Amino acid sequence: MSGASAFVALGSNAADARARLEQALVGLEAAGVRVAAVAPPVTGPYLDAAGRPVPGARPVLNTVAQVTTALRPQELLAALHALEDASGRVRDGGVTRTLDLDLLTHGERVEPHGAPILPHPRAHERAFVLAPWREIAPWAGLPGTGASVALAAARLEARHPAAFDALRLEPALRLPALGARPRVLPDRAALRAWRDALPPAGAVGLTAGLGLVPTMGALHAGHAALVRRARSACDAVLATIFVNPLQFGPGEDLARYPRTLESDLDVLAAAGADAVYLPDAADLYPPGFATTVTPEGPALPLEGERRPGHFRGVATVVLKLFQRTRPARAWFGQKDAQQVAVLERLVLDLDLSVALEVAPIVRDDDGLALSSRNRYLAPEQRARALALPSALAEVARAAARGERDVARLLAPAQERLVSAGLQVDYLEVVDPRSMQALARVGEAPALALATIRAGSTRLLDNRWVVVP
Ligand code: AMP
Repeated sequence: MSGASAFVALGSNAADARARLEQALVGLEAAGVRVAAVAPPVTGPYLDAAGRPVPGARPVLNTVAQVTTALRPQELLAALHALEDASGRVRDGGVTRTLDLDLLTHGERVEPHGAPILPHPRAHERAFVLAPWREIAPWAGLPGTGASVALAAARLEARHPAAFDALRLEPALRLPALGARPRVLPDRAALRAWRDALPPAGAVGLTAGLGLVPTMGALHAGHAALVRRARSACDAVLATIFVNPLQFGPGEDLARYPRTLESDLDVLAAAGADAVYLPDAADLYPPGFATTVTPEGPALPLEGERRPGHFRGVATVVLKLFQRTRPARAWFGQKDAQQVAVLERLVLDLDLSVALEVAPIVRDDDGLALSSRNRYLAPEQRARALALPSALAEVARAAARGERDVARLLAPAQERLVSAGLQVDYLEVVDPRSMQALARVGEAPALALATIRAGSTRLLDNRWVVVP
């Protein structure tokens, strides 16, 4: 689909605010606007035009959605107004906001005197916009300002920490279910037949080519988010499910890795995948298979030290999947930040003509990053594992509020993890490309990265560290 990527702020303080926001997402899809991602909503005080809390007003539920649309800004704004009206919005200046939809940005447009004004003139002053926005698109630019969303948020947080402290994270919204079950492609021949029948990239209606989402199955909302993003940017979306033996070491959980095909197909249908390739090991590695890719550089530290051969397995299978599926773009999760760094090098070093797209981490409502391995956690282990996201969030918060010394950033986090009874494999602040540890955080974005063990389960998590 051709079109622009735009961001829309959604808010409501009606008694049924959550249902109204969910209904608005359905309305956007019905208007031909593709919803790529929706941030976990936050509740915050109802603020007047000057940013002061209004006494007696109900708190507001706010979030930000990323959408792809062929509509021009004026047309998209009209669609947003129509949805506000359909929700019974009364523009009387009172303290009930049934539904508020604001256009924040529309592609790269800078229109200071437009109707709408782009980017939205107050977006960078509102914690209740920036806090959710940075969760789904930290590196999106605020056109005309030179700042990313993450940087704008860090700058506001440094000046008004209380505005961020006043926000409470709420459970994720339910997203509209999109499609029918994907076509199942059991082997290479079926994949080739399906792939060859797609119109060439650039043909009418398929300007973005094929979008690929490689997975190992046991799909959850994190995988669904990758598929939904792919579907918003491409007209054909292929997921793959393959538990790749080459990336598991001896003694790792290959044999007991969860396999949940029926529910995987439901997840893929709801998120809008057109097809799913389900090869077995012999399909990908036939007898005589003898050539692999050994990445170095960002593949060497961290997981590379602890799981020898892991990234060789990842790089090899991903390269093979690229060759077989010839995608224009492929989506990977920031959850596996080192994998992203390794694959970015793979694409550069081997001159691959695929665009890598990286989607932010999707978390459970309690903050734990979604992972197929979370199901191994006993309830008591899971409760302790929550120290992992909160320790990393604290690192990010301290950096946004001005601390640049990594030892001082990490000490309280380490303490928190250890006192929760978690075994810390590593906890570092690294350069996101090289994966080398940093001693100070500078202008460039850095990544706080940790791997812990709760019982025998290893959990990975990370957070962007942005100083104002
Ligand atoms: P896996 O099936 O675990 O190999 O993951 C397949 C893809 O989904 C990888 O690109 C992962 O980084 C991504 N992924 C896994 N968990 C999450 C999550 N919680 N949020 C976003 N992406 C994820």
